[in-house]
Amino acid sequence: MSDLKQSVTALAGIGSHTANRLANLGIHIIQDLLFHLPSRYEDRTQVYRIGALQAGMTALIKGKVECTDVLQKGRTSLICKISDGTGFLDLKFFHFSASQQNSLKAGVFISCFAEVRVGYAGLEMVHPEYSVLASMEAPVAEASLTPVYPLTEGLNQAVIRKAVKLALAVCNTQPALLPDWIPAVILQNYHYPDLLTAIHAVHHPQDSQAAAALQAGESPALKRLAFEELLAHHLVLRSARVKSNAWHAPVFVSDAALTAQFLQSLAFSLTGAQQRVIADIEQDFHTGRPMMRLVQGDVGSGKTIVAAYAALLALAAGYQVAVMAPTELLAEQHFKNFSTWFGIFDSNVVFLTGQLKGAARHLVLQHLQDNTANVVIGTHALFQDSVNFAKLGLIIIDEQHRFGVHQRMALREKGQHDGMRPHQLVMTATPIPRTLAMLQYSDLDLSVIDELPPGRTPIVTVVISAERRSEVIERINNWVDHKKQVYWVCTLIEESDALQAEAAEITAQRLAMLLPKVRVGLLHGRMKTAEKNTVMGAFKCQQLDLLVATTVIEVGVDVPNASLMVIENPERLGLSQLHQLRGRVGRGVNDSYCVLMYQAPLSETARLRLGILRDSHDGFVIAEKDLQLRGPGEVMGVRQTGAIQFKVADLRRDSDLLDNIQHAADYFITHTPHAIEPLCERWLGISTDYSEV
Ligand code: ADP
Ligand code: MG
Repeated sequence: MSDLKQSVTALAGIGSHTANRLANLGIHIIQDLLFHLPSRYEDRTQVYRIGALQAGMTALIKGKVECTDVLQKGRTSLICKISDGTGFLDLKFFHFSASQQNSLKAGVFISCFAEVRVGYAGLEMVHPEYSVLASMEAPVAEASLTPVYPLTEGLNQAVIRKAVKLALAVCNTQPALLPDWIPAVILQNYHYPDLLTAIHAVHHPQDSQAAAALQAGESPALKRLAFEELLAHHLVLRSARVKSNAWHAPVFVSDAALTAQFLQSLAFSLTGAQQRVIADIEQDFHTGRPMMRLVQGDVGSGKTIVAAYAALLALAAGYQVAVMAPTELLAEQHFKNFSTWFGIFDSNVVFLTGQLKGAARHLVLQHLQDNTANVVIGTHALFQDSVNFAKLGLIIIDEQHRFGVHQRMALREKGQHDGMRPHQLVMTATPIPRTLAMLQYSDLDLSVIDELPPGRTPIVTVVISAERRSEVIERINNWVDHKKQVYWVCTLIEESDALQAEAAEITAQRLAMLLPKVRVGLLHGRMKTAEKNTVMGAFKCQQLDLLVATTVIEVGVDVPNASLMVIENPERLGLSQLHQLRGRVGRGVNDSYCVLMYQAPLSETARLRLGILRDSHDGFVIAEKDLQLRGPGEVMGVRQTGAIQFKVADLRRDSDLLDNIQHAADYFITHTPHAIEPLCERWLGISTDYSEV
């Protein structure tokens, strides 16, 4: 064996059939087996006396078959009574073959492993694992606990145990294949075992105490592996940041006359927070290094105009700007806004999404390539290989949390050439608690828009049961009578666009029937761009009163006259997502309301969560509390395409490690920079290779 990166088929006895099954578990190379951790352990380290068994125990025993009978009462079963001199036990089989029945004849010695239950005639084991023994003295106990691995169809414990054992054996005979990149000082500091010891300990804990510690997530071996993994994720971002500084970027100098003209064209003046963030960006633009900045600002804090300001500076310097939004709807809205804002300048703003096809698409691509288009706005389609920019100077990514770290990292290469890289401005409304930001945004500088534009009236949020649906519908009538508009949001747990669309369609039909005077529109993810635009346009210019929508309107949509939002089954959504949705109202001068109409009965946690939303308007507070209630895994994971997948680490269990990661990363960067690359490779695989030169 020369390498742990060889395919698992390099192990003796692992054929392509097993390899295919293992691949379903994400196990491709030998090293993957080492990090495929057991979900629990079975204790076969000691043989119990039958007389000492108690119901509920899972135990290994030995005994002699006293008699075997087939019972025809009720379900046919094979009952095999065994004893070891200290007591009797029944083995019960509902499925059995003739040969099995034959092999369990009186006088045969066997060992069994199963849970002990109280049966009809005393203690019993149902379908135990068993082996026939040569004698009562045959050794059957294992030296360490037996791992039970997560499985996939067509794979059984025996096969995967064998595969892992083989992989461990390779490491034992050739420890150099698995270098421990964590320096000894760090291991000592946190009382962590070395890598090989840790891997052995998680697969084959010595005793039940060690297994219990593993199960409780307190084992130093497990903690060490989780630590190493989290560190690798953090280091990928940190080193991306370091490497980014090796690139040059265009310098954009602010032209006072131009920016003044832009600001004067707006119907409002910038908030202090917006001005501060703009100053940060201007400073970045002067350095000659690629800006890597995250702008975090609550829903409605006015991030778009900040982005437009940055775009203007790039534009003035003769560079192109790409603005990426997570949904067509939002991209379309940005396109309209940017077109309006930049209409007063010599500019060409174009739109590009996956739905744009044929000649129209070709024309946009042409304009980007020959630099006749300055600003392009679109979805992730912007960054496909077929899109070539003549002079890309700035990439703006809106609602970054919808894209995920890896997608964002991959984007950096776009538009780089001759040691030059575009600047990047990343925007998000989802506040990520500090500890988690470390795993998502460590490559970025942070600016926060911590102030809402003046004159916003807080949204009154009410939590009510769907039993009061008719009252809510009645209220819509009233609302519309006052020339105000309404959103009705349908949610479904299923991620299926088709089901969501269907639910919204049905709701729209019903509401239209119940509210004959109200003009009802429908918006969902399955509609064509043109249809969506027509509906959105009609709602915006008040040709529609009520917009029934799926969560597609979650991000960005801006219709100030819509000041009432009803969200059906809010208990199904994450709090940050609900907060985002709610941010669609409260944008105008009217008092705004958000009705969270839940399906009774509501669980205790759900009740608490909706209460948090009712009582707070601060996205950061909401995210923190949601984090406490649900744990970071869920908060980060929910509906995030790019949520980080960990092999070992579990953010709910291991968040205590995060505080130490930063220190360890500092140490790596100063003392063992050569170890960063292989460590990241080990945990993140080839995906760490973002083609940094
Ligand atoms: P978000 O931060 O959620 O992306 P937007 O950029 O969509 O927020 O801005 C929300 C609304 O606030 C828009 O209608 C925008 O025109 C308006 N807005 C932005 N900045 C200001 C400001 N300084 N004063 C008043 N309104 C503003
Ligand atoms: Mg926005």
